[in-house]
Amino acid sequence: MTTQAKLGQVTTKDYRGVTIHTYKSPEEGLYVTSQIVETDDGLVVFDAVFHTRHAEDLADYIAGLGKPVNRIVLSHIHPDHWSGLSVLHQRFPQAPIYALPEIISYIKENGQKILDARNEAFGNVVAKTPTLPDHELAVGAQTIGGVRFEFERQPDGESDWQTIVRLPDARVVMVFDLVFPAEHHLFTVASHFDHWIEILEALKGDAAKGYDTLMVGHGNPVGYDVIDGNIAYLRKAKDIHAANSDAESYAKALKDAYPSYYGGGWVDFSSLLLYGIINP
Ligand SMILES: [Zn+2]
Repeated sequence: MTTQAKLGQVTTKDYRGVTIHTYKSPEEGLYVTSQIVETDDGLVVFDAVFHTRHAEDLADYIAGLGKPVNRIVLSHIHPDHWSGLSVLHQRFPQAPIYALPEIISYIKENGQKILDARNEAFGNVVAKTPTLPDHELAVGAQTIGGVRFEFERQPDGESDWQTIVRLPDARVVMVFDLVFPAEHHLFTVASHFDHWIEILEALKGDAAKGYDTLMVGHGNPVGYDVIDGNIAYLRKAKDIHAANSDAESYAKALKDAYPSYYGGGWVDFSSLLLYGIINP
């Protein structure tokens, strides 16, 4: 079922007895998502979106579900996923915020500088100050409100540190920005092409165990059929990166290689990070 929030769009589905709401920001918010898992005793919310007003919209939607937020989990180090934590923390102050220790350290060290730079680049649309996760996420299996979760940590993918979350009963894997929808540009903001491809190759093994849905960081849930296209894109991007010494020529070559793909603006911005023009 798809419902319209005030600004974003929500897809709600029962995945083998586990209800998950996927909040998708509008285009100006990069279609960044938040996943809301309903458990026996409340909600577990993954990621907090980018623009402050979209985070307010997300918080309104969550409040409308009428269940307590028992936990918020941040997936990776990029600000389009954690800027909105300020709003979620304000609206749901009792909810602990979890992230891998490496992610917490990164935001502690770089968060303010990143928000200042993004507010300058995008016109004061994101949080003024970072809200730090206050609980360290442990890898491994955990049952929360009767729903089983498995948390995995991976370095050197789309970002320096990211979490993969499997829900074995729902047969859903939250891969966040490790996977993008078909015919979309990927965010190549770090030069970890080889290990990112390794992570994707390993993810394909889950399909044999019956997993069939991937929750992505930008866009609606997808199937495993998109992974090979993502891998081909990363191989191409790696070659283009090796052949080009500046951000502009990298972005042009990548857009020329995939002229029909959505997100040319994403490539322009990603290339500035990849070549260190914007850092961090
Ligand atoms: Zn993202």
